[in-house]
Amino acid sequence: MVLRPAGEQSRCPSCRGHSDRIHSWYRRRLSDLPWEGIAVGIELRVRRFFCDAADCPRRIFTEPMGKTAPRYARRTARLSDALEQITLALGGSAGARLAEQLGILASDSTLLRQLRRRPVERFPSPRVLGIDDWAWRKGHRYGTILCDLERGKVIDLLPDRSAESTERWLRFHPGVEIVSRDRASLYAQAATRAVPHAVQVADRWHLLHNMTEAFTETLGHHYRLLNEVARAVTPTEQAHEEPPKAEFPALAVSRPQQLQRNNRQRRLDRYESVMEKARLGLSQREIVRQCGLSRKTVRRWLTADGFPERKRSCRHSSVERHREYLEQRWAQGCHNAAQLWRELQSHGFLGRPHTLRDWLQKQYGRRHERQQQQTLKPADPRTSPRKVAWQILKQPEAALPFLGELFRRSPEIATLAATAREFFRMIRERDIAAWPEWQQTAAAGPLAGFAKHLCRDQAAFLAALEQPWSNGPVEGQVHRLKLIKRSMYGRASFDLLRLRVLHSA
Ligand SMILES: [Zn+2]
Repeated sequence: MVLRPAGEQSRCPSCRGHSDRIHSWYRRRLSDLPWEGIAVGIELRVRRFFCDAADCPRRIFTEPMGKTAPRYARRTARLSDALEQITLALGGSAGARLAEQLGILASDSTLLRQLRRRPVERFPSPRVLGIDDWAWRKGHRYGTILCDLERGKVIDLLPDRSAESTERWLRFHPGVEIVSRDRASLYAQAATRAVPHAVQVADRWHLLHNMTEAFTETLGHHYRLLNEVARAVTPTEQAHEEPPKAEFPALAVSRPQQLQRNNRQRRLDRYESVMEKARLGLSQREIVRQCGLSRKTVRRWLTADGFPERKRSCRHSSVERHREYLEQRWAQGCHNAAQLWRELQSHGFLGRPHTLRDWLQKQYGRRHERQQQQTLKPADPRTSPRKVAWQILKQPEAALPFLGELFRRSPEIATLAATAREFFRMIRERDIAAWPEWQQTAAAGPLAGFAKHLCRDQAAFLAALEQPWSNGPVEGQVHRLKLIKRSMYGRASFDLLRLRVLHSA
């Protein structure tokens, strides 16, 4: 399109005075939003005017185009906006492909450059700050996320997890009055150094979690007793009804099974990445391109109700032909897979030993194990410290007889249970008054270690009872970050990740 301004006169940007005396013309080229998928280029004829105002230092000025076509820009403002939005949502390479589909010509590096050039929004310093860490790679490398808890927004990301960088950030953002954090000491350190007057709030969820861990560990010392009580209170006929599955540890996994599991996991990962892209609004075609899967697979996954499991392989059919023989031998008491494999070979079986072993395991699997262990006896009701901890804290109806018997046999556990439950009540009801007494009781018992830990962080703990703030929203944002990070295929440079987390809706 060839366009030219229609106004008779223009305004001098220096003195704001009007002028209609044209000095010269020149051409400016701009790209604009595509029209029906066709790239649109604008050839703009721009005028230069004389400024005749006596007191104006400027003699000649170029007619300003306002916000539509900022000075020196090669794209109209609305095109730049569109590209920014695309890059924020999809990142560089996926963004470039979508742009191409829409009829906009821009390489991925152009997109990224444009995004990086964008003036960074200055967020006002938060009053209530939530801090947590997030994983670049779990167990390897962590970063820090900072949220404004009042506005429910991410305000910054830091590329590492350290007291120093957090402290520096806090010093650059004065005005923080409340810091909500988990119980990791490094954020506590940073806050204490940089904003000593701010109230630090320990996260309630983490408090409960840590307490449950300490509690479970203590119960672990009574492992034998727990199981004894579990057996004593389980009526035998009920024990028979229970599926034996849960009562036995899983069988050792054979290598082919392991391979099968790995394959499934790989498929599942791919499936999830497809679904994620679909959620981010990518078209089927885009997903196909990005994931390198066939169009058919992607379509099937997108229309399926859930993750479609592979159909069972018929690898076992070669064994099936010998089923009758195997069943007979099994009944005769030959349960040795290697022996049976040798026998089957003389019957023309061509499969490998593990094929037979898998088949046997599937057929006789757990029953086989149990028979080998000893003659049939009723399923052995077992429990675990974790399960008991949960029962004590939640007290479901069905667990009451068990708990009654347990407390009768061990007054020590009864006291411990009361202490643990009281801690939960204290947090739930925000009962600060109960703290000194709880702390004394706990310090005298097996939870002394946990109590001591709390004392060291007492101010933050009490603030957790007083303040309405928690790190829940921060964890929501960490989840969002994770989705964005994954859509970037781990090649994410930190600054782009940061921009996307801060600015994409
Ligand atoms: Zn002027």
